[in-house]
Amino acid sequence: MRILLDGQQLPIKIPVSKDLLLTLKTIALAQNWRIHYNAATSVIYLNTDSHQPIAYPDRQALPNVEMDSTRLLGKSICIDPGHGGRDPGAIGPAGTYEKDNTLAIALLLRERLERNGAKVYMTRETDQSVAHDSATAQEEVEARIWAAKQTKADLLISIHNDGFISSTANGATTYHHGNADASRLATIVQKRLIESLGVNDRGARFASFFVIRYAPMPSILVEVAFISNPDEELLLASEDGRSRAANGIFEGIVGYYRV
Ligand SMILES: [Zn+2]
Repeated sequence: MRILLDGQQLPIKIPVSKDLLLTLKTIALAQNWRIHYNAATSVIYLNTDSHQPIAYPDRQALPNVEMDSTRLLGKSICIDPGHGGRDPGAIGPAGTYEKDNTLAIALLLRERLERNGAKVYMTRETDQSVAHDSATAQEEVEARIWAAKQTKADLLISIHNDGFISSTANGATTYHHGNADASRLATIVQKRLIESLGVNDRGARFASFFVIRYAPMPSILVEVAFISNPDEELLLASEDGRSRAANGIFEGIVGYYRV
């Protein structure tokens, strides 16, 4: 947490707590100071002249006070939207394609991450394959790993939709390949995704998917919901569902960087 007094950052570093906030508010009230707390950036603004507007720092010093978090500054993240091009991925009962949902969620996630200072790489950003149009499934996943490796990103987030023969299967699952950081990332992303999307929690689990197994950085594969389930197919195809999914994954990544 940072404290800005009349626009000057105080040289103290303390964890935010309700008690401290309450104390500062009490002091501000007694002294007739103005106080504003931005919970998202953990910055407290204090102004000793109550007639002046709250002194926000200049934007050079703190690039974006509207950021949800400053934890992603300097981080680089590779997003892999599952399938694409000739490969539609799973197809829902109403005929929607997994590849469209994964790309839409990935683009929303990119926007949110970039807005918060992260550098984002995408294995694809249009409806295309990553290898080449006639690539085999194996060539395609290898191309994604190769692309992720080139980025030297800190994390790899692969986005998919689940599918099953029974239309009643439902919920979200986040997979990792056993690496301690990836496992922690999977746990927090899964938690935030469930909170945001409100679907059944199938947990953070170990799996041996190629893309998370061979990525050199902590990597997870998120199965956002079941496209084979009619209700979840609608959710995945809706703007609201896609943005809730992207927000949940975003919050999970921010949570991962909370130390
Ligand atoms: Zn998939």
